[in-house]
Amino acid sequence: MAHRVTLIPGDGVGPELVAAARRVLDASGAEIEWEVQEAGLAVMETEGTPLPERVLASVRRNRVALKGPITTPRGRGMRSVNVALRKELDLYACLRPCKHYPGVRTPFEGVDLVVVRENTEDLYAGVEFAEGSAEAQQIIALSGGRIRGDAAISVKPISAFASGRIVDFAFRYALGNGRRKVTAVAKDNIMKATDGLFFRAAREVAGRYQGQVEYEEWLVDAMCMQLVQKPELYDVLVMPNLYGDILSDLCAGLAGGLGVAPGANIGEEVAVFEAGHGSAPKHAGQNKVNPTALILSGVMMLRHLGEREAADRVEKAAAAVIAEGVHVTYDLKPQRDDPTAVGTSEMADAIIAKMR
Ligand code: NAD
Repeated sequence: MAHRVTLIPGDGVGPELVAAARRVLDASGAEIEWEVQEAGLAVMETEGTPLPERVLASVRRNRVALKGPITTPRGRGMRSVNVALRKELDLYACLRPCKHYPGVRTPFEGVDLVVVRENTEDLYAGVEFAEGSAEAQQIIALSGGRIRGDAAISVKPISAFASGRIVDFAFRYALGNGRRKVTAVAKDNIMKATDGLFFRAAREVAGRYQGQVEYEEWLVDAMCMQLVQKPELYDVLVMPNLYGDILSDLCAGLAGGLGVAPGANIGEEVAVFEAGHGSAPKHAGQNKVNPTALILSGVMMLRHLGEREAADRVEKAAAAVIAEGVHVTYDLKPQRDDPTAVGTSEMADAIIAKMR
């Protein structure tokens, strides 16, 4: 029976990447019935919201979605659709495998890390008070002189529930995917209340997996240095939202860059698969950027759907095209202005040809 999957093209480079990934996944042997749902900037203009209820209803119904990136204007104004989607659907776990494929240029051969990021709380909870607001003044009064009078304030909630849930997800992922170690990352020497709670919750969960998966803890700053010096020592990393946002890009960089970094946002009920990168607006509509990150997100989706053979077929074909280095986009060439670089669509064609 065909799998019904919600397909969100997104904006910027999203639609061209989604079109390429869709063709590759359709050629994988898995039967997928796509339900296309537009969201993002253009929809904001026509429907008054960038994330209409019909999109959420479709993802809830199908339980699985493949999504292109969506632009979030900076500063004041529209809230991030990506954050809203994760909150609305309680996609509490952000999974970012960072694996090096031969042919991708990086100083680190053989990087194979997985970042598990808590997706629902921390400084991303959206509890913010502008400078001069009554709420900010109340908190400033409570701080007993530790906060300046003209400060804006973002609140960092970390709960035992969400911390335990994400660490348990990391251990289940490690067990289910033959991983040996989970490393929890935070900064409890400074944020004793919030990050202290995160580590305490993590230790409690780790106790349940003792003897099955190794557990260790690192402070986030030291972890950054460890990762750029000895990435081979680490395996699955789990951390609160903000550290996870930063370290997942750092690890993507170690493995070769955003063009090849897939991702997924997963909850108890539904899972949304999307590349780690954004909508790269300056490249939009040019058939230029690398479709690999979204295609590999599709590979994660196929595995989630139980389509392991189709997933392996796509991953092997993409790896082979990258290793040959001929039919690849500009970012995978030795020089970024290499005239032999192909476009998004042509790289997808090469991956499809390899699968035949
Ligand atoms: P970005 O990831 O869109 O692009 C940064 C740069 O990385 C690009 O200019 C390009 O040089 C390179 N790049 C990105 N994707 C690439 C690809 N597939 N192939 C080759 N090179 C690639 O980051 P940004 O410019 O900071 O963000 C642009 C917009 O995307 C913002 O509005 C941001 O909020 C949004 N965003 C969305 C998501 C999402 O939808 N999940 C994630 C991150 C950022």
